Amino acid sequence: MKYVDEFRDGDKARRLAELIRTEVNPEREYRLMEFCGGHTHAIFRFGIHDLMPENLKYVHGPGCPVCVLPAGRIEAAIELAEAEDIILCTYADLMRVPAGRGDSLNRARARGSDIRMIYSSTDALAIARANPERQVVFFAIGFETTTPPTAAAIQIAEKEGLSNFSVYCNHVLTPPAMRHLLSSGEAHIHGILGPSHVSTIIGSQAYAGCCNDYQVPLVIAGFEPLDVIQSTLMLVRQINEGRFEVENQYSRAVSQTGNRKAQALMQAIFEPRAMFEWRGLGGLPDSAVQIKAAFHAFDAEKRFGMQAIDVADIRGCICPAVLRGVSDPVDCKLFGSICTPEQPKGACMVSSEGACAAQYSYGRYRLGGKSEI
Ligand code: SF4
Ligand code: SF4
Repeated sequence: MKYVDEFRDGDKARRLAELIRTEVNPEREYRLMEFCGGHTHAIFRFGIHDLMPENLKYVHGPGCPVCVLPAGRIEAAIELAEAEDIILCTYADLMRVPAGRGDSLNRARARGSDIRMIYSSTDALAIARANPERQVVFFAIGFETTTPPTAAAIQIAEKEGLSNFSVYCNHVLTPPAMRHLLSSGEAHIHGILGPSHVSTIIGSQAYAGCCNDYQVPLVIAGFEPLDVIQSTLMLVRQINEGRFEVENQYSRAVSQTGNRKAQALMQAIFEPRAMFEWRGLGGLPDSAVQIKAAFHAFDAEKRFGMQAIDVADIRGCICPAVLRGVSDPVDCKLFGSICTPEQPKGACMVSSEGACAAQYSYGRYRLGGKSEI
């Protein structure tokens, strides 16, 4: 398949990995954070870390929107669905994420709440059109990748006068979270594999300030194995040469300035949120968006007076440390025994992009380090 097969060529992967092994400085450590869950998934699926020298370690970051959403935001949605006669629509993964006391949207649905799984924001609009007598709330999550479609849905709802449609907005922003991780220094990161989907929207220039301020290089990387390995080589070279630039390996999809139309759409509907709570990272200023006052009629938090709820993660779950890059999934005592993708106890075991789910699903912890490419 075009754009897939040529990026999965095992011989090329091994040659690139050999180059990395000859170019790394054996006297130092290379800790590379893959910010995006898509890379975490690729690294485990293709066994990329097995091809790397011992002193090069991939550190998992907070890059899955499902993983970074704190349980309290899900708990608030469950409370709303149980208190009001609404239809709550959201994506499949979110329905399985544990909220407080082992609850979840799936369980609330089993108790009788009208919670529906959708594939896109247009599905939520269609449900609102088909049920004019009921309030329909779209539980929206995601990084900059999925924010424009949510903005478009609000714009369409306004044009059509869909007064029974609103959005519970949980869209977060990548650069502020990246800044937070680098400023804390906790994960000792020497380079970053930059997200690819997000970067198609915000462009490569969005990370320049981050790299300069913290003197850490970043390479925007595609999701195929050769993309990840080539980006790793680019990072190793920057680190060796003391550079801290933004480089773009994924130039087949990402430009310097990103998608201007999508950016304009986001700016028309959303504005920065003063503070947003991230699982693992805590409250970060200006790290998320909220619906502008002109569109408050479509803001579920305003319409229903939704309040933030403080909910603790299940005892023993170390998702917060995994998301900050300071622990590995296998450090968790619940990993693979009590917590599995079928019965997730923490958010990182739910989505296939979550670090715990990726590591468990591909059995890398069991294979003893055998690459599949
Ligand atoms: S949506 Fe894409 S860019 Fe965002 S975390 Fe998932 S895989 Fe990465
Ligand atoms: S294995 Fe499960 S309980 Fe442990 S950190 Fe991962 S998601 Fe949380």
